[in-house]
Amino acid sequence: MPTSKKMGPSLLELPAELQRMIISQLDYESLIHLSATNRFFNHTVNPQAMADPLDKLQFVMRAAKDFPQHRPSEKGQEYHPGNFECYICFKVRSPDCFDALQSQTAYIDRLGRPVRDRQPTQADTLVSLRRFCIECGVRAGLHVASDSLTTRTGRDLWICSCLRVWSKHQVLRCPSCGGDCPLRPRKKMGVDKIPPQPPRFLSRVVGQMAT
Ligand SMILES: [Zn+2]
Ligand SMILES: [Zn+2]
Repeated sequence: MPTSKKMGPSLLELPAELQRMIISQLDYESLIHLSATNRFFNHTVNPQAMADPLDKLQFVMRAAKDFPQHRPSEKGQEYHPGNFECYICFKVRSPDCFDALQSQTAYIDRLGRPVRDRQPTQADTLVSLRRFCIECGVRAGLHVASDSLTTRTGRDLWICSCLRVWSKHQVLRCPSCGGDCPLRPRKKMGVDKIPPQPPRFLSRVVGQMAT
C-alpha cells in the first residue's frame, strides 16, 4: 500500500510559482495550519496579511464559539472566562489580553483617528466598536497614555506615555519614559459610560452580542 507520502510531490517540492498559486486559494484557517507546518512556511506564509478580511472575521467568530479550548469552564473553584476573539487582529486570545470594560463606542475624526484628547464635535462620527485586544487597542489609538485597564482575568493595568502596558501591582513608573501609574479614574471615550455590572457579567453579555 502506498503511503500518503508517495502519492505526489509535497507543496515544498513544487515550483515557487505553483506554490504561490495554491497558497493564494487557501482560506484563513488553512493558511494558519500551513504556516505552522514547518519553518519555511512559517517565514513565507502570513495568514494575517494573506487571508480575505471576511474569511478572517468568520473564522475568529467560529473559533471562539466552537473550539472547546476557547470556551468558558468551571473547574473546581476556578472560573475560566474562556478566550475571546479580537476583531482587529482576528486572533482568538486569552481573556488576559482584553479590557473587561472596553468601550463599545468611539468618536472618530475625519481621518479615521479615535478622538481621545478633546471633546467630540459635529465633525466627528460616533462608531460602535466590536471587541479588540489591548495590544490592538493601543496600536489603534483606542487605548491611550494614562488609561487604566482591567483585564477579563482581573489584572489591573495602566499605559505609560511611551504606550507600554504595565501591571499596576508590579510597575508604577515606566523606566523608559518616566511616566507614572495614573491615580485618576479611567478616561471615557465620548458618550460611553462604564456599565454598573461586574466584569464577569459583562463578559457574558459581550460574548453573546458577538454571535
Ligand atoms: Zn487584537
Ligand atoms: Zn513608558
